[in-house]
Amino acid sequence: MLDSVIRGVIGKLAECQDIHVDDLVILLSASDAGILQDLHDWADKIRKKTLGDAVLLRGIIEISNRCNQSCQYCGLRKENRKIHRYRMAEEEILDVAKKIEACGISTVVLQSGEDLLSMDRVCALVENIKKETDLFVTLSIGERCYDDYRAFREAGADRYLLKHETASKTLFEALRPGSSYDNRRRCLLWLKELGYETGAGNLIGLPGQGVSDLAEDLLYMRNLRADMIGIGPFIAHPDTPLAGFPGGTGEMTLKVVSLARLLLPKANIPATTALGILEKDGRKRALQAGANVVMLDFTPEIYRRYYDIYPGKTRVVTEMDVYLNVLRGELESIGRTIGKDRPLETTRESAS
Ligand code: SAH
Ligand code: SF4
Repeated sequence: MLDSVIRGVIGKLAECQDIHVDDLVILLSASDAGILQDLHDWADKIRKKTLGDAVLLRGIIEISNRCNQSCQYCGLRKENRKIHRYRMAEEEILDVAKKIEACGISTVVLQSGEDLLSMDRVCALVENIKKETDLFVTLSIGERCYDDYRAFREAGADRYLLKHETASKTLFEALRPGSSYDNRRRCLLWLKELGYETGAGNLIGLPGQGVSDLAEDLLYMRNLRADMIGIGPFIAHPDTPLAGFPGGTGEMTLKVVSLARLLLPKANIPATTALGILEKDGRKRALQAGANVVMLDFTPEIYRRYYDIYPGKTRVVTEMDVYLNVLRGELESIGRTIGKDRPLETTRESAS
């Protein structure tokens, strides 16, 4: 009986019919292996139909780990005095961006803590990357004012990632003291309005988070018409107030990935690093459950170990060319190829 209800909801979603928070709660609560496989298969089918078999690669450079925020879940929070803080120089960032391009990757993601890099500095960086390479530039440097976002866009930035983290106001305010729920959402609307391909996303398994919160996350991202969706399990960091909390599961993360694919068939959804760390084969499983993007960390080794957002994150991998071959083999084994990037159709009109 329950099976038929759940399969009915999956069918409704796959046919893009209107969906209610209760429908999502039913699916998020499902634990039967057969049902979960059906859900992932549907999402995989939709991914194949709308985006094909090409997996898009992004090269990420973690340009600074300085942060003036106090997010309870994150190892980079300003109260964590155990990590050495760094900020990469512009020439170093440019060199790495060129390396990313030389590896055949067409997007660079510049990420940092909420470091108060000046507007001019960020603009100069983006302009130089655009001048010296053909890369698409994604910024992920946190909340800024409208004028900054506009200036970055005019300097050539194509995309912006700003995870909304959680759609629950209560959780957001408890876990991000000093940060405003409404302002983060306002930033996401500005980014859409300015014509960025805009990325939202959430954390799975935060202390106190329920399935209805995750259902609200999904509806929020659908209503925003998010172009990119970062879905990652929360992994407790020992030097934060959430040390010792259990964290998100691979199973729940994959459910949310599949549902995100069904709600937003064309979105770019990465198989996130955090899921890969949490579970053996996590990346492969996410790619078979709706994801179509892989992020590769190009942060120089001397800095990477300090970009300590969650445990396991700073692990150093082998040389990138060796690693890319391994990845190519992994993708081939599941019938996928490495794809070429192109701009998405803009969806900003529908974000209001
Ligand atoms: N400072 C910027 C970008 C860097 S943080 C910002 O906050 O937007 C990048 C992402 O790391 C955050 O969006 C958050 O979702 C994720 N993150 C932080 N702490 C984490 C943890 N303990 N486990 C998993 N992901 C975490
Ligand atoms: Fe800073 Fe981002 Fe970590 Fe929050 S999640 S502490 S803003 S780096």
